[in-house]
Amino acid sequence: MTLRLSPEQIRQRLEQIRSGLLAQSASIGNPNFEQLDEQDLAWLFEAYDTHFFNGLCRACLEDVPLSFRVSSRLTSAGGKTSRFRRRGSQRAERFEIAVSSTLLMQSFADLEREVTVAGVVCHDRLAALQRIMEHELLHLIEMLVWDVSNCSAERFQSLARQCFGHNGHRHALVTAREQAGVLGLRPGVRVTFPLDGRHQVGVLNRVTKRATVLVEDSRGVLYSDGKRYAKFYVPLDQLQPCE
Ligand SMILES: [Zn+2]
Repeated sequence: MTLRLSPEQIRQRLEQIRSGLLAQSASIGNPNFEQLDEQDLAWLFEAYDTHFFNGLCRACLEDVPLSFRVSSRLTSAGGKTSRFRRRGSQRAERFEIAVSSTLLMQSFADLEREVTVAGVVCHDRLAALQRIMEHELLHLIEMLVWDVSNCSAERFQSLARQCFGHNGHRHALVTAREQAGVLGLRPGVRVTFPLDGRHQVGVLNRVTKRATVLVEDSRGVLYSDGKRYAKFYVPLDQLQPCE
């Protein structure tokens, strides 16, 4: 909490980590990488721990394992830090930091708009990935030091400001819902999609990574509007809005 860095010191350290990852990663060849793997997250963790915290994260973890996961299922959070405890024990059995590949890949793609993560404007996926890792790293640190972690609280936010120059705790990465909205795919809209060589017509019910579409079907499940529907999960790029 006593760490004080000038904006220039922060910028230099972040730049070092950025060029370091670009130089050594097997999957990240350029700042708008198409692929990301666990080793990149593990490398980032060690780099941040070294450049910003003098190895104290590793030291605080002691022998508790920390693993990393690239998640395609995180569709609203940019990342997630989890602590797993053995039943009946307060001691952490392991930690995991997950990062959403879905949000990163949806951003800096077709939909062009400014993207911020943690209140910082990001110009490419690598910048967004770094901001997500910085945020998750602070969650881990809070769990290790204070047991509880809350990024909407003052302590987290002043740490985030001091260490990394963050100005917020949310992200504005492109979500599937936003992407779909631009294409006219909103819940309640009639849509069509191909299935077994035919075009099915239904009502768009929900959008996450895929869309949930309800198609009227006499053998389907009864819904509150008194009709029966069969439910289909359709990738967004296969959906077309009807008139
Ligand atoms: Zn958070």
